[in-house]
Parts: sequence; C-alpha cells; structure tokens
Amino acid sequence: MGDGLTRVKQCKQCRRPLDERRRGRPKRFCSRWHRVRYWLEELGELVLS
Ligand SMILES: [Zn+2]
Repeated sequence: MGDGLTRVKQCKQCRRPLDERRRGRPKRFCSRWHRVRYWLEELGELVLS
C-alpha cells in the first residue's frame, strides 16, 4: 500500500507517467518533441542568461 507515483518517471514537459519497461535507456520524455522542446528551452535560457 502507498506505493504510488513516486517511482514512476514522468515526462519533464507534460509530466505524464512514462512506461518504463526497458532497462539501460531511461526515458525522461514521452515523445521526441517534448525532448526537443525541453532541450531548446534549456538552450534558450543559457543563451539569454
Ligand atoms: Zn510529454
């Protein structure tokens, strides 16, 4: 009991729970676009700062 969403990884963009079945390849995003978006945002922040 109480084993809730703490272990489930979420997309860093939309925070959707990710299906983590494969080992060795940790997913942080639900799709490529969210990955790219996040990456671009980080890049933008770096550039702007
Ligand atoms: Zn997402």
